[in-house]
This record gives sequence, C-alpha cells and structure tokens, in this order.
Amino acid sequence: MNRIVTPFTVAQPTVAIEGSDARFPVHRIYCVGRNYAAHVREMGANPEREPPCFFMKPADAVVPNGASVPYAPRTSNFHHEIELVVAIGVGGRDIRRETALDHVYGYAVGNDLTRRDLQAAAKNAGLPWDVAKGFDRSAPVAAIRPVSSGGHVAEGRIWLEVNGQVRQEANLAEMIWSVPDILVELSSFFELQPGDLIFTGTPAGVGPVERGDTLVGGIDGLETLRTTIE
Ligand code: MN
Repeated sequence: MNRIVTPFTVAQPTVAIEGSDARFPVHRIYCVGRNYAAHVREMGANPEREPPCFFMKPADAVVPNGASVPYAPRTSNFHHEIELVVAIGVGGRDIRRETALDHVYGYAVGNDLTRRDLQAAAKNAGLPWDVAKGFDRSAPVAAIRPVSSGGHVAEGRIWLEVNGQVRQEANLAEMIWSVPDILVELSSFFELQPGDLIFTGTPAGVGPVERGDTLVGGIDGLETLRTTIE
C-alpha cells in the first residue's frame, strides 16, 4: 500500500548573498569543463583539439560556506576543483556578447567536487558524467557578491589550499572562454533563467582530498570558501 502523503514540500536550494539576509534561489547549475589550458593538459588532453564543454549538477548539490562534505561514496579518488561561479539574475537565450554581462547578478567562489575515477571511466567508455559530477553535496559555494556592490569579475587570483598547502593557483584572465563567451555559448543551448549558477571551469592543480581535510579557496575580492571533508 502506498503510504506516501501528498502533496509534500521540496526545499528550494539557495545560496547566501554578501551583505544581505536575502538568499539567492538556485534554478540550475551549469558547469564548464576544460576552460584553462594548463588544466586541460594535466587531464591528458589537448586544449587545441578539445574546446571547453558543458555539463550540469542538480540545484540541490549546493553546500553552504563553512559546511562539511562527506567523502563521496563509490569513489576512491575524490577531487577538488576551485572555480569562479557566475549567478544569473536576468534570463535569456541567444544572448549577445555586447549585452551578456547585463544578465549577471553576481559572482562567488565554488568547488566542483568530482569523483575523478568515475569521470575517467566514463570518458573511456563514452558514458555520461553524471555520477562523476552531479552527485549529492558536490557543489560548495560561498556567498554571492552582487554586481551592484562589487562590479564584474574578469581577472584576479584564484587559489585553493588543502590543509594550508597551495594546490591550485592561477588568474581568471587565463580562462579560454571568458564569462561573456560562456553566456553566449551556453544560451545557444539552453534558455538561461534567473537563479542559474554557472561554474566556469577550474585551473591546473586538481587533486585528491581525504577525510579530515580542510579546503580553503578564494578569488580576489570574493568571500573565501571553507569546506571540510568528513
Ligand atoms: Mn570543473
């Protein structure tokens, strides 16, 4: 007998907004892969032959700043990927480069947590990346800094430390696809909506985390993201 009581409620995933009690409701999470040449090379690919690509995570994968993340099940190679996250405030499709930044609500620091062993297996078998990328609590995100208070973000240091050791360090200016490029390309595949988050790709230096590790990642001018692995 079906004992499920309907209708039930489903929580709206949200992200903090710097300087506000209001929260940013998350609609979708898009991610860019292969957006820094040095990272493409460390993954054994050629940035000339393999352009950036898109994949997604579920909206409820977001994890607030300061929270812990369990070591993900079904992996023995759980990786960090520090990234600039773009928060969309105005939707649109076939966005033009000249007006692309008008769609951005703000920017944040995020970590595209990855089951690297499952991603490698998926690549080798020509299978989807969902179990490697779109799992529970795979998207820690710090508070969003609104454009209205901090302006746009096109360059600046991006870095990640694990237990105080620098693992990733680069400049946002090294991105193969800039934020306007990403919005033009992504909005030709999907109609962007207010509440969309876009993880813009990770620089070189990705690597494994272990239970008990403390991850601290940042981008110049944005709230620092702190995560512990349980
Ligand atoms: Mn990534």
